[in-house]
Amino acid sequence: MARPEDSAWAVSVAQVASRPGQSSPVDADFPAPSGIGDAIVGVTEGEPIHVAGAFDSIVDGLIFRAHITAPVHAECTRCLKPLQRDWDADVTAFFPYQYKGDNANEDADIIAGEEESEDSYPLSPDGCFADLEALLRDTFVETLPLQPLCKPDCKGLCPQCGINLNEHPDHQHDTTDIRFAALAGLKEQLERETGEHAAQEPKEK
Ligand SMILES: [Zn+2]
Ligand SMILES: [Zn+2]
Repeated sequence: MARPEDSAWAVSVAQVASRPGQSSPVDADFPAPSGIGDAIVGVTEGEPIHVAGAFDSIVDGLIFRAHITAPVHAECTRCLKPLQRDWDADVTAFFPYQYKGDNANEDADIIAGEEESEDSYPLSPDGCFADLEALLRDTFVETLPLQPLCKPDCKGLCPQCGINLNEHPDHQHDTTDIRFAALAGLKEQLERETGEHAAQEPKEK
């Protein structure tokens, strides 16, 4: 079985664990865990995620507060231009000495006296290491941009020929015929889909 300290995301907290009132700073890069977004919007596995913060020990566990920066890749949802930006997140998490699974969240709120809800993660069985893998993944899965744009007023692509309208602001088609052809195609498609749905209407329970 793998030792907790062999994880690329393990942080030694032995110095502060079980001694309330101690603080242990963290200022380091960690590899991005797998599973943050996808090829369109996400953080590529292994890319450096910078974590700057600290573990503060209290009676029942460790409070971890940090500012996290990750290189998020994305595609503009209008013009499909590739985007590469650093994405920031402030996190607060609780690493209780007695981990009780997800039910520990309520206790964490009371202990920390914070209004925001906190995520809670287990320490290693010997209490000497906190593993940041799940925390990093959860943080960025939650904060990924859903509709990234290259700029707020991106004009997108021409729906007919796909040309980038940001680069060709005066682009136009003389296209009455093409529009009618497109409408006719849409009508045909709608009729086909309506027919399919009618055939597979799920039964109400
Ligand atoms: Zn764009
Ligand atoms: Zn066009």
